[in-house]
Amino acid sequence: MSWGFERGRIYNRRSDIHARFGGQQQGGIITPAKHNVIFIITGAEGLINGYADRQRADGVFEYFGEGQLGDMVMKRGNASIANHSRDGASLLLFRKTQYGLRFEDEYVCEGHHNERAPDQAGEMRDAIVFELRPVSSIVEVVESQPSADLDLAELRRRAFNAANPEPGKTQSISTVFERSRDVRDYVVARAKGHCEGCSQPAPFFRANGLPYLEPHHIRRLSDGGPDDPRFVIGLCPNCHRRVHSGADGTEYNTQLLFTMKAIEVS
Ligand SMILES: [Zn+2]
Ligand SMILES: [Zn+2]
Repeated sequence: MSWGFERGRIYNRRSDIHARFGGQQQGGIITPAKHNVIFIITGAEGLINGYADRQRADGVFEYFGEGQLGDMVMKRGNASIANHSRDGASLLLFRKTQYGLRFEDEYVCEGHHNERAPDQAGEMRDAIVFELRPVSSIVEVVESQPSADLDLAELRRRAFNAANPEPGKTQSISTVFERSRDVRDYVVARAKGHCEGCSQPAPFFRANGLPYLEPHHIRRLSDGGPDDPRFVIGLCPNCHRRVHSGADGTEYNTQLLFTMKAIEVS
């Protein structure tokens, strides 16, 4: 479940997306101004328009950016996808079907590349192809043990680099898994053994001796993936469950946002 959307269920663009979130009524990339969420749509008609979104064997979904004629440019919807981690926006993929839009999954943009492909007029042009990975597959990796052998300043440097990777270098130098881990490792080290929500000591230690705390993404509804470390907080399991499952979860999350302003003074 992401933003109230269930995987595999069919939704109506007008009543389920625009009525609730606003956003552009046309095109395959919807970026509502008032919500930290981006809706992207894939479908068979993309093939006619020179787009060929495809699933890769390694779990990455390759999504063609927007721009019907000429070279695609890194602006508007395309820039929103490229920067969604830094901006804290969730990326939700829907597939066009004859019944409506089927919610596929929430993704993290791992990187992008350019590819020669025909535009709507059949002319060859540079297309931007985004490499998207399901956020659920990244959460599992992040549950591995944090590294214990780096100092806080180095972890901080890595975490902020992870949130703002240099354009064009993301896929070769650092994968989304590594970037996600860099953010997690720094947040856990920053907490110095105490929950950043309730200030209580971590409830137990990991096998490698590090205190057990969980990274929570304050701006997104799903954890996992790289994010700006100013919006990721280290929580004890109690506080973490409270945010996601508690009756006052939304209010508690807002409170954590204010707490973070004191933790990461930028
Ligand atoms: Zn706590
Ligand atoms: Zn969380």
